[in-house]
Amino acid sequence: MGFRAKKELGQHFLKDRNIAAKIAGLGKISKGEPVWEIGPGRGILKKEILEFTDKVTAFEIDEELYPLLETEFGNRINLVKKDVLRVNWDEMRGDEKIKIVANIPYQITSPLIMKAINFRENVSVVVFMIQKEVAERLRAKPSCKEYSFLSIKTQFYFDVKYEFTVKPHLFFPKPKVESAVVSLYPKAEIPDLAEPDKFWEVVDTSFRSRRKTLRNNLKYILSNEQVAELEEISDIDLVRRAETLSIPEFVELYNQVRSL
Ligand code: SAM
Repeated sequence: MGFRAKKELGQHFLKDRNIAAKIAGLGKISKGEPVWEIGPGRGILKKEILEFTDKVTAFEIDEELYPLLETEFGNRINLVKKDVLRVNWDEMRGDEKIKIVANIPYQITSPLIMKAINFRENVSVVVFMIQKEVAERLRAKPSCKEYSFLSIKTQFYFDVKYEFTVKPHLFFPKPKVESAVVSLYPKAEIPDLAEPDKFWEVVDTSFRSRRKTLRNNLKYILSNEQVAELEEISDIDLVRRAETLSIPEFVELYNQVRSL
């Protein structure tokens, strides 16, 4: 059909309708519920989503795909012909909570997760197909090698469910990596942070060098005197490494840093 997949746009199109149906099913979409899809591509997932609801918004950056999507779906979908990262999501939403269901372009996974975090109060679930390795990081628990800043940032705001793995041969063109589907459910309650930016600075700095202890990493933002004082007041042993701390422990550490 003369269409050449664009690697730079993460274009790996799903070929398997059963997997597309399974992904759409994870959204547990009710009739008339608003659903957003990021990167509809050639529409395999869109077809399945439309089985549940006719209130679908799809963000697609590749203008070469617009004629195909318009012919196939016409005005059954609201096709937003833009870079999803450049759209102000708040301006797009209505009063109802949204479900985001998408096989996303893998190269923009982290910024999309950050956008979803900032938008969490407006969504009831986010179902993303992403690179398997990243899915492992999203769900990783303390002391796993995949546990990182991204794990904490995601799990702070969402309950993460690893749904299933998808093999490369089910896409065209075939990606080099395995994929996985995850569901992110906004947490009903999150720890109250007086200074969220400070909290994330503590977490980020603690992970600055994975091999280093908390004591050594925190020296990037604290003076030697402050680190010494922190050692006095903290129940958390600063000889530990960031990868061993749970989210409540990071909150404790941040509160102690704030009290210095
Ligand atoms: N959903 C389709 C499927 O499952 O076959 C396509 C998925 S493909 C992995 C990712 C899609 O996202 C492509 O259609 C690509 O053009 C689109 N895309 C890439 N970057 C984008 C961006 N910044 N904003 C919106 N769409 C984007």
